[in-house]
Amino acid sequence: MQKAETPHERLTRFMNEQGMRKTPERYAILETVMHMKGHHSTDQILAMMPSNFHVSRGTMYSTLALFVECGLLYGHQIDGAMLYEYAYGSPVHHHYICTGCNKIWDLHDTAIEEVTSKAKTPRFKKLRSNTYIYGICNICQAKLARLKKKMEKEKQANMSREELRFARIDEELAKVAEWFK
Ligand SMILES: [Zn+2]
Ligand SMILES: [Zn+2]
Repeated sequence: MQKAETPHERLTRFMNEQGMRKTPERYAILETVMHMKGHHSTDQILAMMPSNFHVSRGTMYSTLALFVECGLLYGHQIDGAMLYEYAYGSPVHHHYICTGCNKIWDLHDTAIEEVTSKAKTPRFKKLRSNTYIYGICNICQAKLARLKKKMEKEKQANMSREELRFARIDEELAKVAEWFK
């Protein structure tokens, strides 16, 4: 059996194939993302870089996109923002996301793989699947409960944008109550 490539070798091979310059910045960013846990924005990853190493935001954006392309990172588009997670050699998993605060959690449940493997996709070969389950976390549920009390007393016109957004989540929760128990 062929020995698995290290992430550095994977990156080097990809950049060679694409005729890209193998800059020290790209390897330094790889070092940083290899050690991060969870899901992070471009700015958060910039802040994780060693202080003696300056990387511009533009370089960070393009490097993270490159890492997604060569399978070193997963990119999750959440409410218009991109969050990155180290992917190389990490087990298949799914995600659940709070629509209130946009936090994302990992979900390891083989039942999801079983369902997607059984799902019929005519004239289409499946490669992988990633399921996102949207909902509302316990902190936002408490926020919502407080807001509902406030709404009983006040008119919607006095509500902030954020409160209106939460009120819409509550409406949606009421609608799906029949499916998700
Ligand atoms: Zn939340
Ligand atoms: Zn994840």
